[in-house]
Amino acid sequence: MTAHPVVVRDDPGLLEPPKRERCASNRPAIFGGAPLFAETMPILRPALPPTRRLLRRCREVLESGHLTNGKLVQKLEATAARYLGVPECVAVSSCTAGLMLVERCLGLEGQVIVPSFTFFATAHSLLWNGLEPVLVDCDPRSWNLDLERVRCALGPGVSAILAVHVYGNPAASRELERLAKWAGVRLIFDAAHAFGARRDGQSVGGAGDAEIFSLSPTKLLVAGEGGLIATRDPELAEALRAARNYGDAGDYDCRLLGLNARMTEFHAALALAGLPLVERHVSRRNRLARIYEDYLANEPGVTVQKIRPQDRAARKDFSIVIDAARFGISRDFLHSALEQENIQVRRYFDPPLHRQRLYRRYYRPGLDPLEVTERISRGVLSLPLFPQMSEDDTARIAGRILEIRDWAALEPEGNIPRCR
Ligand SMILES: *Cc1c(COP(=O)(O)O)cnc(C)c1O
Repeated sequence: MTAHPVVVRDDPGLLEPPKRERCASNRPAIFGGAPLFAETMPILRPALPPTRRLLRRCREVLESGHLTNGKLVQKLEATAARYLGVPECVAVSSCTAGLMLVERCLGLEGQVIVPSFTFFATAHSLLWNGLEPVLVDCDPRSWNLDLERVRCALGPGVSAILAVHVYGNPAASRELERLAKWAGVRLIFDAAHAFGARRDGQSVGGAGDAEIFSLSPTKLLVAGEGGLIATRDPELAEALRAARNYGDAGDYDCRLLGLNARMTEFHAALALAGLPLVERHVSRRNRLARIYEDYLANEPGVTVQKIRPQDRAARKDFSIVIDAARFGISRDFLHSALEQENIQVRRYFDPPLHRQRLYRRYYRPGLDPLEVTERISRGVLSLPLFPQMSEDDTARIAGRILEIRDWAALEPEGNIPRCR
């Protein structure tokens, strides 16, 4: 095989020769080759338990005639509370509804600190309660709330901090608890991504006033739709049990504006059957994430989320951040190239909240310019990750990303968009 010329450019980041041979067999689809996968490799597949046991439970539900908020919901709450190591779990119809009800039951007012780098449902819960989001930047390593920025944003109008365990990387709960106590504000965690995560060896779920998990199909524990509120506060749990039932504590005399946010018995049956699989699935996700990291983390222009060695991330998603100038191709070019390989990828969370039309007016660059959020969201790309995926496919996807970069480097200047 003939040697290929090494491209020499002004940018020192691009001086390195391509690492791989450029041969017809690895020609990326975007350059005319065959796609890596004949059938679409999805970004995720819901982790579902075996159907037989589930169907038996569903038949029992139907025969009992008790279809919602019954024995199975109670059993799910008790089992999840034990797994998470918290005294109370309250099951609701979704994480969004859970966030809304927790904020309502805690009587929050005015402003709430929230990261801009999150899924929009986090902040929607605030708007539904008439609360004002104060958008704060994230940390360049953990991609969770930046503690120093939180401290700066804590002012007299703030009644709470709403933190997020981004992609299931446990947020700095002790430090946030200290900050919240110091400022006299409430602390809530959007734990949608974090079922099965551990901070300093302890299950995520017991910090702050409450932590709210999502049981929707893209999350770690699946109920179909659903949420779980974990709290150490028995009074809050009691208020939430009324709040999810329109606000009726059982005496038909509402003191609180609630919702119908009950969980059905069928959803509880699915989540109960899935609970015993969580541990295995989380280790599997970490194993696959590790393969991505081995291939990609040390490449120039690629950043991965840093998980502290004493923590375990739930790895709801595995995302890389591409710095186009250093990597040689832009995130969006890589995105199209991977789609052509039949690999489904997503840009979570781009645009971040402060660049969405609903939230633009809450962007206050004078208070927090959100520079890290800008940089991460501009380069972020979430790759396929689910427990049923093979090590081999994970490695092939990672290798393909590098091949796409290496082929692009040898394309004539001007053919490839190198920046944004
Ligand atoms: C999925 C998700 C939610 C919403 O969960 P639902 O159960 O669908 O309401 C909230 N926050 C984050 C960070 C999420 O990813």
